[in-house]
Amino acid sequence: MSKVIICANQKGGVAKTTTTVNLGIGLAREGKKVLVIDNDPQGSLTEALGYQEPDSLEITLAQIMDWVLNEEPFDITAGILHHEEGIDLMPANIELSGVETSLVGIMSSETVLKEYIDMLGNKYDYIIVDCSPNLGQLTLNALVAADEIIIPVQAAYLPIKGLEQLLKTISRVKRKMNPKLHIMGILLTMVDYRTNYANEITEVLYQVYGSSIHIFENVIPMSVRAAETPAEGVSIYKHDAKGKVAIAYEELTKEVISHE
Ligand code: ADP
Ligand code: MG
Repeated sequence: MSKVIICANQKGGVAKTTTTVNLGIGLAREGKKVLVIDNDPQGSLTEALGYQEPDSLEITLAQIMDWVLNEEPFDITAGILHHEEGIDLMPANIELSGVETSLVGIMSSETVLKEYIDMLGNKYDYIIVDCSPNLGQLTLNALVAADEIIIPVQAAYLPIKGLEQLLKTISRVKRKMNPKLHIMGILLTMVDYRTNYANEITEVLYQVYGSSIHIFENVIPMSVRAAETPAEGVSIYKHDAKGKVAIAYEELTKEVISHE
């Protein structure tokens, strides 16, 4: 079976999408078969991989979830796009927010994404799911489908309050719906250690969570080069191969592989 890793944090702008792109492509560069799933109606992952108009795509995750929900048979490769850097993408667009609304109150609505991923069987070594910035039905579906969670945290705000809420949700899903769910780690992103707060936040995170949750020692530095990649539809390895962000995501990739 594929290993399912989700990038989740209900806070926006913490590099969930950026991490999905560069971990996904990082794993492909190590010879792994990878599918990334855009589980956000904003379609940022879809855009970041070069599909600048997600709303014009016909088959997206919304359609797939609708088929699964209604038990309609479909071709398992339907909707999957291929990116030049060696990964597959299940795209999303605004239609996914309609699906999210329709899931409320439906029986077993939290297992739809898992059912789809199960259907893919062992087609992929890794499936990476980019979550939306909330703890709604779509994120719940990702938590139920996941083996591992990476929690990107931007080292610019004290994130403790939001993290508490996320950790509570994770532990509830683990108890009630997905006992194998495991937090791979908290990933510090957009780190600029020239600022005092980056150091302070890192210290607080280690104090509060260091004994219970893995915190990746390898952090993702702040760099304008990283912010430019979505517009070009490529990874940091292509945009700034020798830069510090590329090196950091390569390290993260190695750590994820060593986790096997
Ligand atoms: P999220 O998916 O959590 O909302 P994104 O991955 O979209 O976060 O990142 C938020 C913004 O920060 C984007 O504009 C992105 O290009 C930028 N960004 C991501 N990583 C870095 C980095 N290491 N350095 C500078 N900017 C970054
Ligand atoms: Mg995002």
